[in-house]
Amino acid sequence: MSQELSADALAELTRCFVDRISVAPATCLQHANSLSIVPAEAARAVVWPETIEEIQNIVEMAERYRFALVPFGAGTSLEGHVNAPRGGVCIDMSRMNSVRAVNAEDMDCDVEAGVTRQQLASHLRDTGMFFPVDPGAEQATLGGMAATRASGTTTVRYGSMRDNVLGLTAVMADGSIVETGSRARKSAAGYDLTRLLIGSEGTLGIITSLRLRLHPVPESKVAVVAHFPSVKFACDAAISSLALGLGLARVELLDATSMRAVNKSSKLALPEMPSLFFELHGSLASTRDDALDLRRTMSEFGAEAISVSSTESERDTLWAARHNCFWAICEAYPGRTPVVTDVCVPVSKLAECVDATINDCQHYGLVAPIVGHVGDGNFHAVIMVDKSNQRDVKSLDLVMDRLIERALAADGTCTGEHGIGQGKMAALAREAGRSLAVMRQIKSALDPLAIFNPGKIF
Ligand SMILES: Cc1cc2nc3c(=O)[nH]c(=O)nc-3n(C[C@H](O)[C@H](O)[C@H](O)COP(=O)(O)OP(=O)(O)OC[C@H]3O[C@@H](n4cnc5c(N)ncnc54)[C@H](O)[C@@H]3O)c2cc1C
Repeated sequence: MSQELSADALAELTRCFVDRISVAPATCLQHANSLSIVPAEAARAVVWPETIEEIQNIVEMAERYRFALVPFGAGTSLEGHVNAPRGGVCIDMSRMNSVRAVNAEDMDCDVEAGVTRQQLASHLRDTGMFFPVDPGAEQATLGGMAATRASGTTTVRYGSMRDNVLGLTAVMADGSIVETGSRARKSAAGYDLTRLLIGSEGTLGIITSLRLRLHPVPESKVAVVAHFPSVKFACDAAISSLALGLGLARVELLDATSMRAVNKSSKLALPEMPSLFFELHGSLASTRDDALDLRRTMSEFGAEAISVSSTESERDTLWAARHNCFWAICEAYPGRTPVVTDVCVPVSKLAECVDATINDCQHYGLVAPIVGHVGDGNFHAVIMVDKSNQRDVKSLDLVMDRLIERALAADGTCTGEHGIGQGKMAALAREAGRSLAVMRQIKSALDPLAIFNPGKIF
């Protein structure tokens, strides 16, 4: 079913947005073009609203003319989330980008949805507080991160967007403005609409602003990097580290291929072995003691080399390299398309699941470096596909299917952080079972004409 923009609707939109609307095919395509194997499908027009009233106005028009709306943050999502399979209008939130307030006493802040995570980090730099959720794409917006229920390297200690959004404002399909949550640290008042909208991928409402929980910058941060003879050893060591009761803020895995790519791209000389990158947060005394404990445990689990960095510049270099890992892998395999898997399993099943995935990729001849937020049981096989090779494409489908089956059999999920979009719709149906019907009911109750991001999730 097309929910395309009619000539009348386009004329009305153009009158409202004047020079903040584009129908240029290249601009529309650029707004649908993400790092995904899902082919891009462009909207008919892109608009850049600056106020919540303008968003209400677009939604009212979409209801009247029945065209589709696709909210757009920075377009870094990985499952075809910002595609426009039914046409319509892309709403680019980048001009709603002010940090409205930072409340030091309550450790929270109010931001518009188009503020990027990098922008917020710079804004908070001298406040003694930080916002912890750090997806690998620095230009991701807080609105997009909330809409995908994003997480990052520090989720093991500070939680994901689910845990760090105290409330939000959204425009709903009937044009009403909903304000959810409060500035209180907890609330038992009715349904949790904040968490309903978090992870809704633009299908239930357009988030215009968010109230975020901030955290104090710890007195001390120490990075520990340990290198292992096999991925299995590294996973077992990661699992054991979680039970030590240390101030672990990051527990990241890179396999040998990823380490090679990182060394080359970031001009480092780290051992090219399966490696765990840890970061400890706490007081000077606690991080020093924790680092010793961690070192000891890593040795017991077979680490062949361990380094500890407490200076800011050493740590920054390491974490910049970790965050750059995806691009480093892409650089190492020019001409190939990255397909990033995202299963998450209970940590007790992690080693088994990662091992079986590596064996599967090898069996089917796929190049698939492994990177993972293993402290959360979440890992990515970055499958580098040669799309001109039919065998590669067939193997990709098989391996993805088996991986999801394996994760679900382990009581895990098909996506720890990237979300469903278009790419994981079949996987969601497998995972959610009967609760999918409840999700559909919520969607049709809140957006009966299906104007918000149609063709996603279901
Ligand atoms: C190199 C790389 C590394 C990544 N690493 C991580 C990672 O570690 N963790 C992680 O979670 N993700 C990661 N991602 C995926 C991606 O960065 C996240 O999904 C991010 O949250 C998307 O933010 P965005 O602003 O780009 O949203 P977009 O891609 O623009 O949009 C994502 C979805 O949210 C909807 N949306 C956007 N803004 C709004 C709004 N204001 N209101 C309602 N709906 C909205 C869109 O319609 C779409 O469905 C990575 C991506 C890349 C390219």
